Amino acid sequence: MRKPKESIYKRYQPAMAPAEQEEGIGYWFIFRGSELLVHENGEQPALPVTSGPEPYGLQPVRSLYLGSIEQASCYTAELDTDAEAPSGMTFLPLFALYDQIDEDLFHLAGRGLQMLAWDATHQFCGRCGTPLDHAGHERSKVCPNCGLSHYPRLAPAVITLILKDDQLLLARAGHFKNNMYGLIAGFVEPGETLEDCVQRETMEEIGIKIGNIRYFDSQPWPFPHSLMVGFIADYESGEIQVDGEEIVHADWFGLDNLPNIPPRISIARKMIDWYIEQHS
Ligand SMILES: [Zn+2]
Repeated sequence: MRKPKESIYKRYQPAMAPAEQEEGIGYWFIFRGSELLVHENGEQPALPVTSGPEPYGLQPVRSLYLGSIEQASCYTAELDTDAEAPSGMTFLPLFALYDQIDEDLFHLAGRGLQMLAWDATHQFCGRCGTPLDHAGHERSKVCPNCGLSHYPRLAPAVITLILKDDQLLLARAGHFKNNMYGLIAGFVEPGETLEDCVQRETMEEIGIKIGNIRYFDSQPWPFPHSLMVGFIADYESGEIQVDGEEIVHADWFGLDNLPNIPPRISIARKMIDWYIEQHS
C-alpha cells in the first residue's frame, strides 16, 4: 500500500552487552524524563558521542546497553529529574527531535526511553515482591524466588483512516490542542484481533459501522510504551454520533476543507498524507 520505512536492522544490531572489540565510547541517549540530552552548538541538535554521562558531570540513575549501529555502541541512561544540562548542551523533548536527528537514531532513542521506563517500573516481582534480576540472555527480568519472567511492556493500539466517497473522517478528541482533528484510535483489549479493535473503537467513539479493514503501517510510540497499528477502512452504515467526552466532534472532510491535522511525526499524519497523495 505504501513503501514502509527501511528496517532499522539494516544498520542496528541489538545485543545485551557490548562485544569485546567495541570501543568504550558510543552514542548515549541520556534522558531527563522524556527529554533527551543533545549538543546545541551546531545548526541541528547532535547526540552526544561519549563514554557515558559522567564526563559531563552527570550521574545516571540507571543505564542500559542497547546494541550497536554501524559498529558504534548505543547506550541509554536516565538522570534525576532535576539534572541540569552541561554547557553547550540542552534537554529537548524526544518529540521535538523528529526529523532533526538521523531517523534510525531517533527510533533507537525511543527504544531506549521505553527500556528505561520498563527497568524503572519492573524492580520487583509482580507475583511475590522479590527484587528482580536481569535475565542476561534476553531483554527480560526474572524473579529469583518464583521464576516469573517480566518482559518489556508494550500496549498495542489501533488507529484508523475511515473513507467515504471522496471524504475522510476526522475527529477532535477532548484533550487535543489547537482545534486539531485526528483519526479514531484506541488500545487493543484482551481477546480482540486488531481488526475487532478497529470496529469496536469506531462504534464506541463515533457510532458508525465500517468494513474492508486493511493494514497500513505501524509505528512504535514510546510515550510511554505503545505500538500504533494503522488501518484503512471504508464506511458502511450509520450516522456519526460522538460520545462527547473522548471525542467532542467528528465529521467527513474533503481535501479542500481539511482542518488542523496532527504533526508529521505521527502515523495519523502519515496516513492522511498518503490519502492526499493518492487523491491529488
Ligand atoms: Zn516472584
